[in-house]
Amino acid sequence: MQAPPLSNFIGGRWVPSTGTRTIDVHNPATGQTIARTPLSVGADVDAAVAAATAAFPGWSETPPVVRARTMFTFKALLEAHAEEIARIVTTEHGKTLDESRGSVRRAIECVEVACGAPSMLMGDALENVGSGIDCTSMRQPIGVCAAIAPFNFPAMVPLWFLPFAVVSGNTFVLKPSEQVPLSQKKMFELLEQCDLPPGVVNLVHGGREVSEAICDHPGIRAVSFVGSTAVARAVYQRATHAGKRVQALGGAKNFIVVMPDADLDRSIPIISESFYGCAGERCLAGSILVPVGPVHAEARDRLVESARAMKVGDGMEAGVDMGPVISAAHRDRVLGFVERGAAEGAQLALDGRTRTLPKEGYFVGPSVFDAVTPAMTIGHEEIFGPVAAICPVERLEDVFTLMEAHPNANATSIFTSSGKAAREFAHRATASMVGVNIGVAAPMAYFPFGGARDSFFGDLKVHGRDAFEFYTDKKVTISRWF
Ligand code: NAD
Repeated sequence: MQAPPLSNFIGGRWVPSTGTRTIDVHNPATGQTIARTPLSVGADVDAAVAAATAAFPGWSETPPVVRARTMFTFKALLEAHAEEIARIVTTEHGKTLDESRGSVRRAIECVEVACGAPSMLMGDALENVGSGIDCTSMRQPIGVCAAIAPFNFPAMVPLWFLPFAVVSGNTFVLKPSEQVPLSQKKMFELLEQCDLPPGVVNLVHGGREVSEAICDHPGIRAVSFVGSTAVARAVYQRATHAGKRVQALGGAKNFIVVMPDADLDRSIPIISESFYGCAGERCLAGSILVPVGPVHAEARDRLVESARAMKVGDGMEAGVDMGPVISAAHRDRVLGFVERGAAEGAQLALDGRTRTLPKEGYFVGPSVFDAVTPAMTIGHEEIFGPVAAICPVERLEDVFTLMEAHPNANATSIFTSSGKAAREFAHRATASMVGVNIGVAAPMAYFPFGGARDSFFGDLKVHGRDAFEFYTDKKVTISRWF
């Protein structure tokens, strides 16, 4: 017997989607079906926006300190259920349990930062802007806000948005990825216990149709999107065309630079984790390794050694370093990139296809390609899987040429013991999340998160101060009393 499709959460109640189609959710480590996501339709988005619109007047008038208390409650519930949520993430996504735990921790940190709303929402004031005239600026919530999330961080990415939007006095509609709906189901069960009035937070499951209805809906004031560059661009164009405030985070092709003076003993394990952690399904994952000058052969050999030693298996099992990728289709796509790389003349220093892997599930062995050029498919396209492409260069200057030529600019890192090289790298890198001897340069919840160029469409980034900017409008009042 098939499990019933998951319900949407609208106006404080779990309700069936009015869509008639569903897609199966799989445990990528076993291939087993674990749930069914309803492909909701425009009418479901209409219902969620109606509930959020009805809740807005009361919620926006609720004192910020009271709104913040609901997020303190949410944070306490998340702490109490962190392990359970991490296990759900591993079951629906495939990443190892430790990786899932780390992502839940990052999610909770977003709620912690949002709890600072009473201070973060304060405005400015100046007396005597003219004789006897005073001026104040205040932040006010903007209305119904929505977010559309990707598959790769099912628990964390939605919390880049929801706590900040809600604590700022807005009401909210979330569309999780249809591939990983279960950790958000759990989080909304916890949100039900947070004294939020009905309609403040709403969950609508589905795919493209729901995203497009969100972009077009006249009742939604702001849209946050995270996903691939092609969809980020389309969502940005469509939702801004409909007059909304939009931030759309796209795909990546991240350069990891190794200087000849890098401490390889300490750097290679970190670099290897950057390329193969979460099976390469991170927007901040290393994608192109750029060894500078004479370090090339040693950096390659040690990366190969590290990748070969990784234990690939069910992320729920202790000792596993890398889980499966999200789906059979994505596994085949990643393997297609490996085939293209070999066909286009890159040298396979480690062929993940030859590894013995679990029979069930969507596993891909880690691969390393050497002698990759930007013209090759694997040299410029986002693979989003456990495939490292090595693109050696002679000088640090050549690194900047490579970066300048690539349209994506999400994250990048340099491994070096030279402060001068690190400083120049941070100054000139095109990407806007930069690591120095750090493999995954993920800004903490109190700093802005987001890339540049085709990795980010919009201006205000995610979490930190930018979140409070994005979710509020500034009203200036100039007063004179006769
Ligand atoms: P995706 O673009 O396929 O889907 C993202 C979301 O958009 C999903 O909710 C999906 O249902 C919806 N969607 C899919 N096609 C759509 C369409 N044509 N119109 C409107 N909505 C549509 O991305 P994904 O495969 O879920 O996630 C992986 C991608 O996300 C990678 O490219 C990765 O780099 C990127 N990502 C970026 C960041 C970042 O911070 N820049 C963070 C995480 C993931």
